[in-house]
Amino acid sequence: MKKIAVLTSGGDSPGMNAAIRAVVRAGIHNGLEVFGVSEGYKGLLENEITPMNYRSVSEMMNRGGTILKTARCKEFMHDEYILKGIENLKALGIEGLAVIGGDGSFRGAKDLSRLGMPTVGIPATIDNDIACTDYTIGFDTALNTACECIDKLKDTGASHNRCNVIEVMGRHAGHIALEVGIANGAEVIIVPETPFDLKTDIVERINQAAKKGKKHFVVIVAEGIEGVDKLAIQIETLTEISTRATILGHMQRGGTPTVKDRVMASRMGVYAVELLMEDKGNRVVAWKNGRIVDYDINEALEMKKTIDADLYNVYKTVTE
Ligand code: ADP
Repeated sequence: MKKIAVLTSGGDSPGMNAAIRAVVRAGIHNGLEVFGVSEGYKGLLENEITPMNYRSVSEMMNRGGTILKTARCKEFMHDEYILKGIENLKALGIEGLAVIGGDGSFRGAKDLSRLGMPTVGIPATIDNDIACTDYTIGFDTALNTACECIDKLKDTGASHNRCNVIEVMGRHAGHIALEVGIANGAEVIIVPETPFDLKTDIVERINQAAKKGKKHFVVIVAEGIEGVDKLAIQIETLTEISTRATILGHMQRGGTPTVKDRVMASRMGVYAVELLMEDKGNRVVAWKNGRIVDYDINEALEMKKTIDADLYNVYKTVTE
Protein backbone atom coordinates (compact mmCIF):
# COMPACT_ATOMS: atom_id res chain seq x y z
CA MET A 1 0.00 0.00 0.00
CA LYS A 2 1.40 3.37 -1.06
CA LYS A 3 -1.47 5.82 -0.65
CA ILE A 4 -4.23 6.10 1.95
CA ALA A 5 -6.94 8.65 2.73
CA VAL A 6 -8.65 9.81 5.90
CA LEU A 7 -12.06 11.39 6.53
CA THR A 8 -14.33 12.38 9.41
CA SER A 9 -18.03 11.55 9.15
CA GLY A 10 -21.33 11.90 11.03
CA GLY A 11 -21.51 13.80 14.33
CA ASP A 12 -18.30 15.65 15.21
CA SER A 13 -16.48 15.09 18.47
CA PRO A 14 -13.51 16.72 20.23
CA GLY A 15 -10.35 14.76 19.47
CA MET A 16 -11.17 14.09 15.82
CA ASN A 17 -8.32 16.44 14.86
CA ALA A 18 -5.88 14.46 16.98
CA ALA A 19 -7.04 11.30 15.18
CA ILE A 20 -6.58 12.91 11.75
CA ARG A 21 -3.10 14.04 12.81
CA ALA A 22 -2.18 10.54 13.99
CA VAL A 23 -3.32 8.95 10.71
CA VAL A 24 -1.43 11.51 8.62
CA ARG A 25 1.76 11.36 10.66
CA ALA A 26 1.72 7.56 11.03
CA GLY A 27 1.16 7.27 7.28
CA ILE A 28 4.09 9.55 6.51
CA HIS A 29 6.22 7.72 9.10
CA ASN A 30 5.53 4.48 7.21
CA GLY A 31 6.39 5.99 3.83
CA LEU A 32 2.80 6.43 2.63
CA GLU A 33 1.20 9.35 0.84
CA VAL A 34 -1.84 10.50 2.81
CA PHE A 35 -4.89 12.31 1.44
CA GLY A 36 -7.63 14.14 3.35
CA VAL A 37 -11.27 13.94 2.24
CA SER A 38 -13.41 16.98 3.11
CA GLU A 39 -16.89 16.62 4.62
CA GLY A 40 -16.99 12.86 5.01
CA TYR A 41 -18.70 10.68 2.43
CA LYS A 42 -20.09 13.78 0.71
CA GLY A 43 -16.54 14.86 -0.13
CA LEU A 44 -15.77 11.37 -1.37
CA LEU A 45 -18.64 11.62 -3.88
CA GLU A 46 -17.74 15.18 -4.85
CA ASN A 47 -14.06 14.28 -5.22
CA GLU A 48 -12.90 16.70 -2.49
CA ILE A 49 -9.71 14.72 -1.88
CA THR A 50 -6.43 16.57 -1.35
CA PRO A 51 -2.90 15.52 -0.40
CA MET A 52 -1.87 16.16 3.20
CA ASN A 53 1.63 16.59 4.51
CA TYR A 54 3.36 16.76 7.88
CA ARG A 55 2.51 20.44 8.25
CA SER A 56 -1.18 20.05 7.23
CA VAL A 57 -1.86 18.71 10.71
CA SER A 58 0.33 21.08 12.74
CA GLU A 59 -1.01 23.06 15.68
CA MET A 60 -4.45 21.49 15.71
CA MET A 61 -4.21 18.92 18.46
CA ASN A 62 -5.84 21.36 20.88
CA ARG A 63 -8.65 22.40 18.55
CA GLY A 64 -12.17 20.99 18.85
CA GLY A 65 -14.21 20.08 15.77
CA THR A 66 -12.57 18.60 12.69
CA ILE A 67 -10.33 20.42 10.22
CA LEU A 68 -11.56 18.05 7.50
CA LYS A 69 -15.19 19.02 8.30
CA THR A 70 -17.89 16.42 8.57
CA ALA A 71 -21.24 15.82 6.96
CA ARG A 72 -24.13 13.42 6.62
CA CYS A 73 -24.64 11.99 3.15
CA LYS A 74 -27.86 10.12 2.34
CA GLU A 75 -26.65 9.00 -1.11
CA PHE A 76 -24.00 6.88 0.58
CA MET A 77 -26.67 4.35 1.56
CA HIS A 78 -26.73 3.19 -2.11
CA ASP A 79 -24.06 1.06 -3.79
CA GLU A 80 -23.96 3.12 -7.01
CA TYR A 81 -22.78 6.18 -5.03
CA ILE A 82 -20.35 4.20 -2.90
CA LEU A 83 -18.82 2.83 -6.11
CA LYS A 84 -18.49 6.40 -7.37
CA GLY A 85 -16.60 7.32 -4.17
CA ILE A 86 -14.30 4.32 -4.62
CA GLU A 87 -13.68 5.33 -8.24
CA ASN A 88 -12.61 8.81 -7.07
CA LEU A 89 -10.17 7.30 -4.56
CA LYS A 90 -8.76 4.78 -7.03
CA ALA A 91 -8.25 7.49 -9.67
CA LEU A 92 -5.70 9.00 -7.26
CA GLY A 93 -4.12 5.61 -6.59
CA ILE A 94 -5.55 5.45 -3.04
CA GLU A 95 -5.75 1.87 -1.75
CA GLY A 96 -6.99 2.26 1.80
CA LEU A 97 -9.22 4.57 3.85
CA ALA A 98 -9.53 5.50 7.54
CA VAL A 99 -13.02 6.64 8.59
CA ILE A 100 -13.25 8.55 11.86
CA GLY A 101 -16.86 8.59 13.10
CA GLY A 102 -19.74 6.79 14.78
CA ASP A 103 -21.62 3.61 13.99
CA GLY A 104 -23.51 5.19 11.05
CA SER A 105 -20.15 6.01 9.48
CA PHE A 106 -18.99 2.44 10.17
CA ARG A 107 -21.92 1.13 8.09
CA GLY A 108 -20.57 3.21 5.21
CA ALA A 109 -17.07 1.86 5.94
CA LYS A 110 -18.41 -1.69 5.81
CA ASP A 111 -19.97 -1.02 2.38
CA LEU A 112 -16.76 0.58 1.10
CA SER A 113 -14.80 -2.52 2.12
CA ARG A 114 -17.42 -4.84 0.59
CA LEU A 115 -17.26 -2.97 -2.71
CA GLY A 116 -13.47 -2.98 -2.96
CA MET A 117 -11.92 -0.21 -0.84
CA PRO A 118 -10.19 -1.58 2.32
CA THR A 119 -11.53 0.68 5.09
CA VAL A 120 -10.78 0.92 8.80
CA GLY A 121 -13.11 2.65 11.29
CA ILE A 122 -11.86 4.78 14.19
CA PRO A 123 -14.59 5.26 16.84
CA ALA A 124 -15.30 8.94 17.50
CA THR A 125 -18.51 10.18 19.09
CA ILE A 126 -19.20 11.99 22.34
CA ASP A 127 -21.95 9.44 23.11
CA ASN A 128 -19.64 6.44 23.76
CA ASP A 129 -22.41 4.33 22.23
CA ILE A 130 -20.35 2.06 19.95
CA ALA A 131 -20.75 -1.47 21.25
CA CYS A 132 -17.39 -3.01 20.31
CA THR A 133 -15.31 -0.43 22.19
CA ASP A 134 -15.16 0.67 25.81
CA TYR A 135 -14.22 4.17 24.68
CA THR A 136 -14.99 6.54 21.80
CA ILE A 137 -12.99 9.69 21.03
CA GLY A 138 -14.69 12.78 22.43
CA PHE A 139 -16.51 11.18 25.37
CA ASP A 140 -14.17 12.48 28.07
CA THR A 141 -14.19 16.04 26.74
CA ALA A 142 -17.99 16.04 26.51
CA LEU A 143 -18.25 14.74 30.09
CA ASN A 144 -16.00 17.51 31.35
CA THR A 145 -17.87 20.19 29.39
CA ALA A 146 -21.23 18.96 30.69
CA CYS A 147 -19.85 18.69 34.23
CA GLU A 148 -18.63 22.29 34.17
CA CYS A 149 -22.01 23.57 32.89
CA ILE A 150 -23.88 21.60 35.56
CA ASP A 151 -21.58 23.02 38.27
CA LYS A 152 -22.67 26.48 37.10
CA LEU A 153 -26.35 25.57 37.07
CA LYS A 154 -25.95 24.17 40.58
CA ASP A 155 -24.58 27.51 41.82
CA THR A 156 -27.70 29.32 40.72
CA GLY A 157 -29.99 26.42 41.72
CA ALA A 158 -28.51 26.45 45.23
CA SER A 159 -29.01 30.20 45.59
CA HIS A 160 -32.71 29.85 44.82
CA ASN A 161 -33.35 26.44 46.42
CA ARG A 162 -34.33 25.14 43.02
CA CYS A 163 -34.46 21.88 41.19
CA ASN A 164 -32.46 21.83 37.93
CA VAL A 165 -33.59 19.34 35.33
CA ILE A 166 -30.74 19.08 32.84
CA GLU A 167 -30.75 17.23 29.55
CA VAL A 168 -27.38 15.96 28.37
CA MET A 169 -26.54 14.42 24.99
CA GLY A 170 -26.14 10.73 24.22
CA ARG A 171 -28.66 9.92 21.47
CA HIS A 172 -30.24 6.60 22.52
CA ALA A 173 -27.63 5.89 25.20
CA GLY A 174 -27.25 7.08 28.79
CA HIS A 175 -23.45 6.90 29.22
CA ILE A 176 -22.95 10.68 29.39
CA ALA A 177 -25.95 11.08 31.73
CA LEU A 178 -24.76 8.39 34.14
CA GLU A 179 -21.17 9.62 34.39
CA VAL A 180 -21.92 13.35 34.69
CA GLY A 181 -24.80 12.57 37.05
CA ILE A 182 -22.42 10.76 39.39
CA ALA A 183 -19.73 13.41 38.95
CA ASN A 184 -22.19 16.16 39.90
CA GLY A 185 -23.91 14.31 42.74
CA ALA A 186 -27.29 14.36 40.99
CA GLU A 187 -30.24 13.19 43.07
CA VAL A 188 -31.80 11.61 39.99
CA ILE A 189 -30.30 10.18 36.77
CA ILE A 190 -32.67 9.08 34.02
CA VAL A 191 -31.21 6.96 31.20
CA PRO A 192 -32.99 5.35 28.24
CA GLU A 193 -31.65 1.88 29.15
CA THR A 194 -33.60 1.79 32.45
CA PRO A 195 -37.38 2.38 32.56
CA PHE A 196 -38.50 5.00 35.08
CA ASP A 197 -41.63 6.04 36.91
CA LEU A 198 -42.17 9.76 37.52
CA LYS A 199 -43.42 9.35 41.08
CA THR A 200 -41.15 6.64 42.48
CA ASP A 201 -37.95 7.32 40.54
CA ILE A 202 -38.02 11.11 40.49
CA VAL A 203 -40.50 12.80 42.83
CA GLU A 204 -39.99 10.46 45.79
CA ARG A 205 -36.20 10.64 45.43
CA ILE A 206 -36.31 14.44 45.49
CA ASN A 207 -38.65 14.38 48.51
CA GLN A 208 -36.35 11.90 50.29
CA ALA A 209 -33.34 14.14 49.63
CA ALA A 210 -35.32 17.14 50.95
CA LYS A 211 -36.12 15.19 54.12
CA LYS A 212 -32.38 14.60 54.61
CA GLY A 213 -31.85 18.36 54.50
CA LYS A 214 -31.13 18.95 50.81
CA LYS A 215 -32.32 22.33 49.57
CA HIS A 216 -31.51 22.19 45.88
CA PHE A 217 -31.69 19.28 43.49
CA VAL A 218 -30.26 18.06 40.21
CA VAL A 219 -32.06 15.71 37.85
CA ILE A 220 -29.94 14.58 34.87
CA VAL A 221 -31.92 13.35 31.90
CA ALA A 222 -30.38 11.66 28.86
CA GLU A 223 -31.32 13.05 25.45
CA GLY A 224 -33.03 9.78 24.46
CA ILE A 225 -35.76 10.33 27.08
CA GLU A 226 -37.06 13.54 25.43
CA GLY A 227 -39.58 16.03 26.90
CA VAL A 228 -37.34 17.66 29.51
CA ASP A 229 -39.51 20.83 29.65
CA LYS A 230 -42.65 18.84 30.36
CA LEU A 231 -40.79 16.79 32.95
CA ALA A 232 -39.68 19.96 34.77
CA ILE A 233 -43.29 21.20 34.94
CA GLN A 234 -44.45 17.84 36.30
CA ILE A 235 -41.69 17.84 38.94
CA GLU A 236 -42.55 21.39 40.02
CA THR A 237 -46.25 20.52 40.27
CA LEU A 238 -45.68 17.32 42.28
CA THR A 239 -42.90 18.55 44.60
CA GLU A 240 -43.85 22.25 44.86
CA ILE A 241 -40.15 23.04 44.39
CA SER A 242 -39.26 25.76 41.89
CA THR A 243 -37.86 23.83 38.90
CA ARG A 244 -36.00 24.87 35.73
CA ALA A 245 -35.22 22.84 32.63
CA THR A 246 -31.96 23.28 30.70
CA ILE A 247 -30.86 21.49 27.55
CA LEU A 248 -27.05 21.58 27.31
CA GLY A 249 -27.18 20.67 23.61
CA HIS A 250 -24.40 21.02 21.09
CA MET A 251 -21.95 22.83 23.37
CA GLN A 252 -21.09 19.32 24.59
CA ARG A 253 -19.62 18.56 21.17
CA GLY A 254 -17.18 21.46 21.13
CA GLY A 255 -14.14 22.64 23.03
CA THR A 256 -10.52 21.78 23.58
CA PRO A 257 -10.09 18.00 23.75
CA THR A 258 -8.90 16.60 27.06
CA VAL A 259 -5.58 14.77 27.37
CA LYS A 260 -7.48 11.47 27.43
CA ASP A 261 -9.14 12.22 24.09
CA ARG A 262 -5.91 13.41 22.47
CA VAL A 263 -3.98 10.35 23.61
CA MET A 264 -6.75 7.89 22.72
CA ALA A 265 -7.14 9.51 19.28
CA SER A 266 -3.38 9.27 18.73
CA ARG A 267 -3.30 5.59 19.73
CA MET A 268 -6.28 4.72 17.54
CA GLY A 269 -5.07 6.71 14.52
CA VAL A 270 -1.65 5.04 14.55
CA TYR A 271 -3.23 1.59 14.96
CA ALA A 272 -5.62 2.21 12.04
CA VAL A 273 -2.66 2.93 9.74
CA GLU A 274 -0.92 -0.25 10.93
CA LEU A 275 -4.02 -2.25 9.96
CA LEU A 276 -4.10 -0.66 6.51
CA MET A 277 -0.37 -1.34 6.09
CA GLU A 278 -1.14 -5.02 6.77
CA ASP A 279 -3.77 -4.85 3.99
CA LYS A 280 -6.54 -5.27 6.55
CA GLY A 281 -9.80 -3.61 5.59
CA ASN A 282 -13.31 -3.99 7.00
CA ARG A 283 -11.92 -3.55 10.54
CA VAL A 284 -12.84 -1.26 13.44
CA VAL A 285 -10.29 -0.06 15.96
CA ALA A 286 -11.48 -0.51 19.55
CA TRP A 287 -10.35 0.03 23.13
CA LYS A 288 -11.17 -3.09 25.13
CA ASN A 289 -10.12 -3.90 28.71
CA GLY A 290 -7.32 -1.33 28.58
CA ARG A 291 -5.85 -2.40 25.22
CA ILE A 292 -6.17 -1.45 21.57
CA VAL A 293 -7.73 -4.24 19.51
CA ASP A 294 -9.64 -4.52 16.24
CA TYR A 295 -12.83 -6.22 15.10
CA ASP A 296 -14.44 -7.18 11.83
CA ILE A 297 -16.87 -4.32 11.09
CA ASN A 298 -19.82 -6.66 10.51
CA GLU A 299 -19.27 -8.31 13.90
CA ALA A 300 -18.73 -4.94 15.58
CA LEU A 301 -21.99 -3.54 14.24
CA GLU A 302 -23.94 -6.52 15.57
CA MET A 303 -22.70 -6.11 19.14
CA LYS A 304 -24.97 -4.52 21.75
CA LYS A 305 -23.86 -2.09 24.46
CA THR A 306 -25.63 -1.82 27.80
CA ILE A 307 -25.30 0.73 30.55
CA ASP A 308 -22.52 -0.03 33.05
CA ALA A 309 -24.49 -1.86 35.78
CA ASP A 310 -21.75 -1.36 38.42
CA LEU A 311 -21.72 2.37 37.79
CA TYR A 312 -25.53 2.53 37.89
CA ASN A 313 -25.34 0.77 41.24
CA VAL A 314 -22.86 3.42 42.46
CA TYR A 315 -25.43 6.12 41.63
CA LYS A 316 -28.12 4.24 43.53
CA THR A 317 -25.86 3.57 46.51
CA VAL A 318 -24.78 7.16 47.02
CA THR A 319 -28.22 8.67 46.55
CA GLU A 320 -30.49 6.33 48.52
P1 ADP B 1 -22.43 8.70 13.01
O1 ADP B 1 -21.28 8.16 12.21
O2 ADP B 1 -21.99 9.79 13.92
O3 ADP B 1 -23.20 7.57 13.69
P2 ADP B 1 -24.58 8.99 11.03
O4 ADP B 1 -25.41 7.88 11.60
O5 ADP B 1 -25.29 10.23 10.64
O6 ADP B 1 -23.40 9.44 12.00
O7 ADP B 1 -23.83 8.41 9.75
C1 ADP B 1 -22.90 9.21 9.04
C2 ADP B 1 -22.96 8.89 7.57
O8 ADP B 1 -22.62 7.52 7.38
C3 ADP B 1 -24.33 9.02 6.92
O9 ADP B 1 -24.66 10.33 6.56
C4 ADP B 1 -24.17 8.14 5.69
O10 ADP B 1 -23.43 8.82 4.69
C5 ADP B 1 -23.30 7.01 6.24
N1 ADP B 1 -24.17 5.89 6.62
C6 ADP B 1 -24.99 5.79 7.68
N2 ADP B 1 -25.66 4.63 7.68
C7 ADP B 1 -25.26 3.97 6.58
C8 ADP B 1 -25.60 2.70 6.01
N3 ADP B 1 -26.50 1.89 6.57
N4 ADP B 1 -24.97 2.35 4.85
C9 ADP B 1 -24.07 3.15 4.28
N5 ADP B 1 -23.71 4.37 4.76
C10 ADP B 1 -24.31 4.77 5.90
